[in-house]
Amino acid sequence: MNESVFTYGAPGLKFGEGASDEIGYDLSQYDVKRVLVITDPGVAATGHPQRVADQMGQFGIEAAVYDGTHVEPTDASLEAAIAHARDTGPWDAYVAVGGGSAIDTAKAVNLLTTNDGELMDYVNAPVGKARNPEKPLKPLVAVPTTTGTGAESTTICVLDVLAQKVKTGISHPRLRPTLAVVDPVLTLTQPAGVTSAAGMDILCHALESYTARSFASYDKKRPEERVPYCGANPISDMWSEKAMSLLSRWFRPAVQDGDDTEARHAMAMAATFAGLGFGNAGVHIPHANAYPIAGRVKDFHPEGYPDDEAMVPHGMAVSLTAPEAFRWTFEADPGRHLRAAELLAPGHDYDGPDALPNVLTDLMRDIVIPNGLGAVGYDEGDIDDLVEGTLKQQRLLATAPREVTEEDAAQILTRSLELW
Ligand SMILES: [Zn+2]
Repeated sequence: MNESVFTYGAPGLKFGEGASDEIGYDLSQYDVKRVLVITDPGVAATGHPQRVADQMGQFGIEAAVYDGTHVEPTDASLEAAIAHARDTGPWDAYVAVGGGSAIDTAKAVNLLTTNDGELMDYVNAPVGKARNPEKPLKPLVAVPTTTGTGAESTTICVLDVLAQKVKTGISHPRLRPTLAVVDPVLTLTQPAGVTSAAGMDILCHALESYTARSFASYDKKRPEERVPYCGANPISDMWSEKAMSLLSRWFRPAVQDGDDTEARHAMAMAATFAGLGFGNAGVHIPHANAYPIAGRVKDFHPEGYPDDEAMVPHGMAVSLTAPEAFRWTFEADPGRHLRAAELLAPGHDYDGPDALPNVLTDLMRDIVIPNGLGAVGYDEGDIDDLVEGTLKQQRLLATAPREVTEEDAAQILTRSLELW
C-alpha cells in the first residue's frame, strides 16, 4: 500500500535585521542560566559571536564562546568540541553562530552532552552504529552567518570520519534547532566566493527537494518508521518554488556586490525557504555526489575560504554534478524540471531535458563556479572512486526520483568532468 501521510517539521524562526540582538531575551524564555556559544575562528574574528554572548548578560545569562569549530567538521573536531563542553558544563542551552559547520558542531555537542555514549554510536550506519538519542536535548539556537546550508532548519549533522575517509552524518528529529535566528546583517561579511558556493547550495536544496520522489510513491510506513526526509510534498514544493523565484532575481546581484543589502536580505530569505523545504522533503543525487567530491579532494583551494587546507566547499561540490543529475532525472517528471527552469530564469520557452541544465550552467558561469569536476582536480581515473562514495549515500539516493545504479552514477559523474 502506498504512503498517504507526509510530515512537516521546522524550528521556531526569527528573521530580519537585528534579530540576533534578541537571543538573550529568547533564551530567557527557556529559563536558561548558562549558555555555550559555538563558532569557528573565522566567524569569531567578525565579533558577532562575542556580541551575541555579551548581550545575554542583561538577562542574567552567563555565556562563554567556544571558537574551535572546524570548517567542514571531522570526527576529531566534533570530539574536541564535545570534550570542551563536557569539561566546562553543564550548559543549559547552546547557540551556534556561523555556517553549517558551527551549527552542525553544536548539534553534535548538544546530543553528546545530553545523551550517553560516544559520537560514533550515533553516526549513520554502516560507518557508525546509528543509535537513537533516548533523552531530550537542550535548547539550541542556530544563527547562520552564511546564506546557504539550511543547517538551522535540518535534523542532520554532517561530518568527515577521518580514519575511513568518508563524509557521513548523524540524523534524528531531536537534532533540529529549537530556534533559527536569521539576521541578514551577519551575512554582509561573507566573501563573493562563499556567496557563490553557498548560493548554489540553496539552489540545489530547492531543486532537489522539488524533483525528489513524491512522498506518496513510498510504501506506507508505521509511525515509528517515519524519517525526517519524507519526499516531495505540497508544503516542501511551496518553499522550493519561492526559493527559486528569489534566487532568479537576487543571486547574481548578491555575488556581484556583497554590500547590496537588499540582495543579502533576499538570499537569506531564499536560504531559509529552501531549508524549510528540503528539511522535510530531502535532497538526492547532487548531494549524494557531493560527499565523495568534497571528501576526496586532492589539491583545490577555492577563493574566499581558509587557505590552509585543500577543500571543495559543500555548495560547490553539490553544484558540480547538478546539471548532469537533472538532465538524467528529467524523464521522471519533465513538467517539474521545466517549471523549475522557468522559475529560475523566467521568460523563455523551455522544452526537453537540456533546458534546466542550460539554466544552471549559465548561472554557474556568471557567478564563477568551476567548470566541472575536472576544474577541481578530478579526472576519468577518479570516477570509480567517486561512484563508490556516491553509492554509500543510500539515505539520500532513496529520495531520487529514479533508481540510481552504478552505471547511472558513473555516467552523471563522467559527464560532469567538464560542464561547458
Ligand atoms: Zn547542501
